[in-house]
Amino acid sequence: DLIDIRGLLDHIVDMFRMQAAAKGLTLTLDVDDRLPAQVKADEKRLRQILINLVSNAIKYTQSGSIVVTVRYRSQVADIEVRDTGIGIAASDLNRVFEPFERGNSAEAQSQPGIGLGLAITRVLASVLGGDIAVESTPGVGSSFRFRIMLPAPMVASRASVQGARITGYAGPPRTV
Ligand code: ATP
Ligand code: MG
Repeated sequence: DLIDIRGLLDHIVDMFRMQAAAKGLTLTLDVDDRLPAQVKADEKRLRQILINLVSNAIKYTQSGSIVVTVRYRSQVADIEVRDTGIGIAASDLNRVFEPFERGNSAEAQSQPGIGLGLAITRVLASVLGGDIAVESTPGVGSSFRFRIMLPAPMVASRASVQGARITGYAGPPRTV
């Protein structure tokens, strides 16, 4: 289905604005100008992925900021949720996507959770043909990156428009 991807991103960030503000965190969204207004995507699954990542970022951050950045190039969106939170130890990094995995740090375990958010996120990402990765430094913050193809609907390319002008009627001759 064609979805309003900017609307979806705005909506999700708005949804968490109060929760972030209550912890004194800034929450910002930075979207690539090249992201089309409409793309082909599975809105429900995409929304769930974003909600899981943003809610974790807020939950595991005590001060600073959460930034959601979207880059777009050649039909591929790179969505990053970055926080300045507690971070994840190197020994836990490759396990956080496993079900019921809550990490070994007391800081993380002091937050409520059952360890399913990221496991679900990884399944949803793979169903959508996407890819999710994490980088993190304990005490500094984490960055979750989700890459997915978000094709824009077909539009006449510059080449085909110019091609049409060669064979079709292009109007009266004019000086350019
Ligand atoms: P649930 O999402 O099921 O409520 P949860 O948040 O503990 O519980 P996941 O979202 O799967 O579970 O995350 C797994 C673990 O990964 C967390 O318990 C936490 O240790 C770590 N983690 C996830 N996101 C972050 C983050 N942004 N910063 C620091 N640690 C994180
Ligand atoms: Mg979670």
